[in-house]
Amino acid sequence: MTYDFELFVIGGGSGGIAAARRAAEYGARVGLAEAGRLGGTCVNRGCVPKKLMVYASHFPEQFEAAAGYGWNLGDRSFHWPTLMNAVNAEVSRLNDVYQSLLDKSGVQLFRQYARFVDEHTLAVGDTTVTAAKILVAVGGQPTRPDNIPGIEYAITSDDIFHLPQQPKHMVIIGGGYIGSEFACILHGLGTKVTQIIRGDKILRGFDDELRSEIHGSMQQQGISIIDCSEQIEIAPTADGVTVRVATPHSETTVCCDVVSLAATGRQPNLNGLGLDRTGVEVKQGAIAVDAHHRTTVPHIFAIGDVIDRLNLTPVAVKAGRGLADTEFGDRPTVMDYNTIPTAVFTSPEMSTVGLSEAEAIEKFGADEVQVYRSRFRPMYYTLPDIKVKTLMKLVVQKSTDRVLGAHMVGEHAAEIIQGVAIAVKMGATKADFDATVAIHPSSAEEFVTMR
Ligand code: NDP
Repeated sequence: MTYDFELFVIGGGSGGIAAARRAAEYGARVGLAEAGRLGGTCVNRGCVPKKLMVYASHFPEQFEAAAGYGWNLGDRSFHWPTLMNAVNAEVSRLNDVYQSLLDKSGVQLFRQYARFVDEHTLAVGDTTVTAAKILVAVGGQPTRPDNIPGIEYAITSDDIFHLPQQPKHMVIIGGGYIGSEFACILHGLGTKVTQIIRGDKILRGFDDELRSEIHGSMQQQGISIIDCSEQIEIAPTADGVTVRVATPHSETTVCCDVVSLAATGRQPNLNGLGLDRTGVEVKQGAIAVDAHHRTTVPHIFAIGDVIDRLNLTPVAVKAGRGLADTEFGDRPTVMDYNTIPTAVFTSPEMSTVGLSEAEAIEKFGADEVQVYRSRFRPMYYTLPDIKVKTLMKLVVQKSTDRVLGAHMVGEHAAEIIQGVAIAVKMGATKADFDATVAIHPSSAEEFVTMR
């Protein structure tokens, strides 16, 4: 049987495009369906526009620092529409870049939705195509919890990039990546922010000490965090919404002008995909895959936010390229989901690779784990007398001296941890770190001088 395509990719996000281009490089006939803007969540309503807003939000602190260094900056003001227009223009530019990359790669692009007709056939708009192998890379979307009355009055992170005006006061529900990043962005831009979380601290799952550091730092900067929320209710008012929060100790009602943001997790985009016409297994709302990203139908694969793994762009890209290498390049590759570095672009930033202290203790026992830490005020903050601290931490296995995890809260954490992650991934020991000469003066040098 011959098929129209050797590989058909559903979804033109980071993972789908990476897989399609790599497979085409190997000479495969590749088709890709994407009805929306190319680049997926990361480019259009995630990492890229978010990081541009992070940069914008850092200026007030930089202005403060500048004064400490003798600069007089005069009057300052911020204009939301100018920022958002610039951000959205950059997103459009990147859409065009993706379009031209696909054009050059020879991948046939369909600007329509695709859905399964059977296990080798897809309806793509009005057309039907067949493919030997199919990759599902359709991503995910924000969820709105159904246990919060009035949640329909909250926007999601997708909508933030299209708000015509800057919110005066925003209530953010959720203490994960998105909630915490937007709490810091909006606060930095001058919006009053109240963040409501279920636990006692933001960023569950990360190293506890780092969570405390960043939680405390955000509060110190003026972000109000209501923790241990048990019940939340949102109700509209004439000029905004009120959010009522009950905790074991209190009941608070917060009024915000326009919006509250539901940042309570994301779910795979499976609706309308026609998976029921295939034998692809879905577990807890996500497509189940094996180590090779193969679904329960051997020629159908899935990567990115549609599977139940780490929802991170570089993970989807690596998985997509690995899949193309294996299936079309005769270079079998298994994606290693261990020791994946990540960053949360809060202010201060947090970045981490490997095991947290608690995870290391759980895996190896408390007697086997040695923790090294350094907490200090970075030199840059001394002259302006800014109180924000940097925290760095190494988690080491005693018997092997191997560095199991490296963690940081502070300026440039993501840039620093990316380099450290290579050493951790290679299995470096604490002695290897100590044998590395420091770069002075820097914050990063603390990673090679910890006692
Ligand atoms: P997360 O899973 O990170 O966080 C969800 C948050 O919502 C948690 O604090 C959770 O609380 C809370 N929550 C869930 N349900 C409810 C509810 N019913 N009531 C109140 N609170 C609730 O999801 P995000 O949406 O923040 O991000 C999704 C994913 O996107 C991330 O996991 C990450 O992989 C990716 N991402 C990565 C970024 C980066 O790399 N910098 C940036 C943004 C997103 P609890 O902890 O108690 O469960």
